[in-house]
Amino acid sequence: MTPTEYLRPATIPDALKALKRGTALAGGTTLAPRARHYALLVDLQALGLDTLTAEAGQVRLGAMVRLQTLAEAEQGVPAALAEATRLEAGLNLRNTSSLAGSLIGCTGRSPLSTALLALHAQVRLEPGPVQWSLDELLDRRLKELQGRLVTEIAFQTPGLMAYAGVARSPADRPVVCVAVARLEGRAPAFGVALGGFGPRPVLVSGAEHALAAGEIDGAAQAIEAACASADDAWASAEYRRKAAAALLRRLAGEAVR
Ligand SMILES: Cc1cc2nc3c(=O)[nH]c(=O)nc-3n(C[C@H](O)[C@H](O)[C@H](O)COP(=O)(O)OP(=O)(O)OC[C@H]3O[C@@H](n4cnc5c(N)ncnc54)[C@H](O)[C@@H]3O)c2cc1C
Repeated sequence: MTPTEYLRPATIPDALKALKRGTALAGGTTLAPRARHYALLVDLQALGLDTLTAEAGQVRLGAMVRLQTLAEAEQGVPAALAEATRLEAGLNLRNTSSLAGSLIGCTGRSPLSTALLALHAQVRLEPGPVQWSLDELLDRRLKELQGRLVTEIAFQTPGLMAYAGVARSPADRPVVCVAVARLEGRAPAFGVALGGFGPRPVLVSGAEHALAAGEIDGAAQAIEAACASADDAWASAEYRRKAAAALLRRLAGEAVR
């Protein structure tokens, strides 16, 4: 087998050139164990994509921001997002994993992706730049990322945000989790995301519209419906329906006020 080639470009144009035939290497937590299966790994750590800014009501997170940086951030980062980031992984993994790598590699059991979805986060990619919603990135990540580089994830500072989940132990990944954000200047004015199962967390637009109308019962029904086929080895759909509705009611009580 040909040994894996390794490049560490210092500019975005150089990185894009290398990505035409190579694979992006961020924190390497998922790639490193399989490194020998890749012909060329393009290390992103010299690109300066590790800044976090919160200005004029917008939070901008570089693709290479480490999860621990986000978990510790205070200025402008909602406490519920920092908490979801702490629940994403243990300290060692948070110190290594990048934000973009974690979103691209996530499953439905990702508290961080669930929280960012509720914030209706936007993703910036090169070449372009082009902008995708995080919802689109989660749909397109498997087939349409070859040759592209995620550079930034951004969201408007929410009026209010809350996250809650149920897991087998306090530090475990959730079997069901819900994030609710009150989004300023957007219709509907709420973001509601559901996670804990399946290949990715999902936005529950029925719950978003119901909350915007002040209908917490309607929002709970919408989130129950989104759990209809959520059976797996970790929990039954019936359990998730009840737990998700209870979490939604609890969070909505805080967010709708
Ligand atoms: C022991 C262990 C257990 C885990 N358990 C879970 C789990 O239960 N649920 C879950 O959701 N995840 C789980 N993960 C996945 C893990 O948390 C994330 O996938 C990981 O944090 C990825 O971050 P990274 O920076 O190391 O990315 P890398 O491993 O470097 O990259 C991940 C992927 O993203 C691509 N990529 C990275 N950055 C960019 C970029 N800027 N632009 C374009 N492409 C990019 C890479 O090419 C690669 O395909 C687990 C990981 C480990 C090691």
